[in-house]
Amino acid sequence: MASEKQQKAIDLSHHLSDLSRARLVSPLKGLAKYMGNPNLIALAGGMPHPSYFPFADISASALVPDSFSLESTPRESALSWVWKLFGAGPKEKTTTITVPKFPSHADDINLAVALQYGTAQGIVQLQKFLKEFVAKVYQPAYADFATLVQTGNTDGWSRTVQTLCNPGEIFLTEEWTYPSALYSSLPYNIKPVAVAMDSEGMRADALRKVLSEWDEEARGAKRPHVMYTVPVGQNPSGATMGASRKKAIYDICVEYDVIIVEDDPYYFLQQGQYKARSERSVETVKNDGDIFLHNLAPSYLKFDYQGRVIRLDTFSKYVAPGSRLGWFTCSPLLAERLERQGETTTQAPSGLSQSLITKLLTTWKYDGYVRWLHGLAIEYRTRRDYFIDCLADEFHLAKSATLEQGLWKGCEVHEGSLKPKNSIIMFEKTAIKTKMFSFVPPTSGMFIWMKIHFENYPSFKAGDEATLEMQLWEKLAEAGVLVAPGWYFSAYVGEAPDAGEGHFRISFSNAEFTTMKKAVTIFGDVLRDFFKE
Ligand code: PMP
Ligand code: PLP
Repeated sequence: MASEKQQKAIDLSHHLSDLSRARLVSPLKGLAKYMGNPNLIALAGGMPHPSYFPFADISASALVPDSFSLESTPRESALSWVWKLFGAGPKEKTTTITVPKFPSHADDINLAVALQYGTAQGIVQLQKFLKEFVAKVYQPAYADFATLVQTGNTDGWSRTVQTLCNPGEIFLTEEWTYPSALYSSLPYNIKPVAVAMDSEGMRADALRKVLSEWDEEARGAKRPHVMYTVPVGQNPSGATMGASRKKAIYDICVEYDVIIVEDDPYYFLQQGQYKARSERSVETVKNDGDIFLHNLAPSYLKFDYQGRVIRLDTFSKYVAPGSRLGWFTCSPLLAERLERQGETTTQAPSGLSQSLITKLLTTWKYDGYVRWLHGLAIEYRTRRDYFIDCLADEFHLAKSATLEQGLWKGCEVHEGSLKPKNSIIMFEKTAIKTKMFSFVPPTSGMFIWMKIHFENYPSFKAGDEATLEMQLWEKLAEAGVLVAPGWYFSAYVGEAPDAGEGHFRISFSNAEFTTMKKAVTIFGDVLRDFFKE
């Protein structure tokens, strides 16, 4: 929470791109400041009369906040998926929410307003909920943080990169990253520079090295001043960064004057360490939102005493991707520039989406929404555990004895960055002991990032990695299992893949439990067959 002692954001306007500096207030949007006056006769805007909106109200049957249990389900065998069929799934208790076109209370969410042209700041009830949510949950370390709606984090990053970077610039990011983030900047000739990772995500020492050794002439660009990072349940690696690493990276960003763009769609899907089935017991987590939130890795905002973080939040993974609704948290100066950009592209997010989601949030209230998020985290934990259990049933499972195994290429063991116990699991083919793949079980998010050890492929030659990755990927697809090939996620744009290795990103978020089991069986058959060749 902002306290009396906290400073305001510092002036970081020197980071703005030429494009952003050139943006003026759209003249019609400039009229918005008069719109709050109830006696105003508004003849200036091209606004349709609300009676021409064909919706008298919008209603929805919404699930209740405690629809998902906080009890982790025991798994004696990989077949215990049947629990899902016997009522441990969502209770499907619903409540009806309605947004009328003309509500009787002036402060209620009003469809006539939500469906009308307005400012790019969105409807006031949503602004209020988000501001309070950020203050309570992320606790920014400066006083005057602002929130601003956007249409999901894809839009959030796209607006941010154009607001901060000029063509020809280079931004910092993890060596493996979310492809849409790369593909929204690349056509503007704004390229990434990859920073090495370990099981906690971006490495602080590797970041310092990139920044301190930056050679403007050799790189053909000035030292990066923007970082794009996915710190929790990282896409694709699944890595989650704890407090001390975030603090270390934040301090380096202060030293080198870098703006951190924290794209954090999986923040509330933090699940804790994976434990092998034999080590797990039934657990009912206490229904206490404060404890749930307290145990989450903090956001970069918690360390941000200067206002140099632009945090991107989205409802995509907690309500629905089709809601196309999210928000920025950043300094007022940056929020104003991002708003200017929004008003000439999407304007505000869809009024239908804003009003329905705001009604849901204000019906559930803060505590209800936190309970919903907590239930989802447990759901994803159950999915993750089940998927890894299936792999353990399909292959011989061995915990790695050394820290190096299972890390990404080029990553040395970094002090305090790994917990040896349970952090790395390796799978071997029992009969001929070929190490076919390895991975670090994710502690958050939706993905398993599987390293395929092509160096153990029978006729392997250096340089075959990319071809083998696609050959294996195709065989899997033909056998009916679609995973994402690793090269999609490489921030080493145009460079050779890692020696001897390939990767697949495998998502455990969507398939039914029976289908996950089937997928792992097919994966096992295809992989064993492939390594025999
Ligand atoms: N183009 C023109 C010529 C307009 O008059 C308007 C609305 N006044 C718009 C675009 C905005 O359209 P939309 O609401 O679909 O973004
Ligand atoms: N950012 C990351 C890192 C993601 O993994 C995803 C979804 O896959 C997105 C953004 C997309 O988010 P949104 O639906 O809010 O645009």
